[in-house]
Amino acid sequence: MTLVDRQAPVSAQSMRALTLVADRKIELLDVAAPPPPASGEVQIGIKAIGLNHIDVWGWRGMAFAKRKLPLVVGAEAAGEIRAVGSGVTGFAVGDPVVAYGGLTCGMCKACREGRDNLCENIGGIMGFHVDGFARDLVNMPARLVVPVPPAIAFRDAACAPVAFATVQHMLFDNAKLEPGETILVQAGGSGIGTAAIKMAKAIGCTVITTVGDDEKAAKAKALGADHVINYRTERFEGIVRKLTGKKGVDVAFEHVGPDTFNGSLLCLKRGGRLVTCGSTSGQSTTINLFQLYLQQYRIFGSFGASIRNIRESLAKMASGLLPVIDTEVPLADFERGLARLESRQVFGKIIVTF
Ligand SMILES: [Zn+2]
Repeated sequence: MTLVDRQAPVSAQSMRALTLVADRKIELLDVAAPPPPASGEVQIGIKAIGLNHIDVWGWRGMAFAKRKLPLVVGAEAAGEIRAVGSGVTGFAVGDPVVAYGGLTCGMCKACREGRDNLCENIGGIMGFHVDGFARDLVNMPARLVVPVPPAIAFRDAACAPVAFATVQHMLFDNAKLEPGETILVQAGGSGIGTAAIKMAKAIGCTVITTVGDDEKAAKAKALGADHVINYRTERFEGIVRKLTGKKGVDVAFEHVGPDTFNGSLLCLKRGGRLVTCGSTSGQSTTINLFQLYLQQYRIFGSFGASIRNIRESLAKMASGLLPVIDTEVPLADFERGLARLESRQVFGKIIVTF
């Protein structure tokens, strides 16, 4: 395997690409570099990749995912512009950028209305269905590329397209979290959990969060969480009722799934909102329909984000609301990063650097 220099010029014949070749088998391959960007495209030199649970799902293999291996991994990234195709304005070589990893059509009603994650003709999610960002160079339609404000590090910006934007979309587009409300953030030590705690605190909410060990509890407190519950040693439902004077919380932020979903519903006040973007503990659960309508709960399924949410996330970073980084690993240690994420030993995001 020959590795090209990390500052490889645009005309390089080959480049590195971290490629899923079989379930749980990722190899750093030497592949052909992309051609110069076509009309309407830019070429991005990738600098940092953010790992998310979707990478773990992809790595393990998912029966329902329509995709073909080998597949370049990496669902969110930050980098810099290396070349600009004809007809593209607003980007110059050297500009720091992130990209939207859903290959939307840009034409359908949802796309025209800025609801990119509801595109009716989506061509796949990069790093999951189609080749992702874990390669030296990638050509992208300029309409999917978002400039990064000055002074934001690549490792931080790399958390904007999926982790931060997902949380932004969940909390503010879906659950419509308001200043002064109380929110329960499940798994507050995760990449999105840490982002949710910080975003909710930033607008003056009371934050109750759950974590799996006492060390994470201290870290969640340090992030600003008002109350931290170790779900392994305490029943969070009872504690949340007690903390809220038996009223319940306004919003529950879910992504754990069957292990916590019904408990999260029980924590809601009447008319409360539950928003979920994940199900790491399994796919199915049962819910009490009497409770659902009598308590007038509102449940939001949330997946991904809009390009606007990425801009909003970067604006938050520019104002000082930065992601919590658990670990930075070099490209060759991508699988070690995934294993760490899978083991739930993380507090914050894992970043893979180029
Ligand atoms: Zn569309």
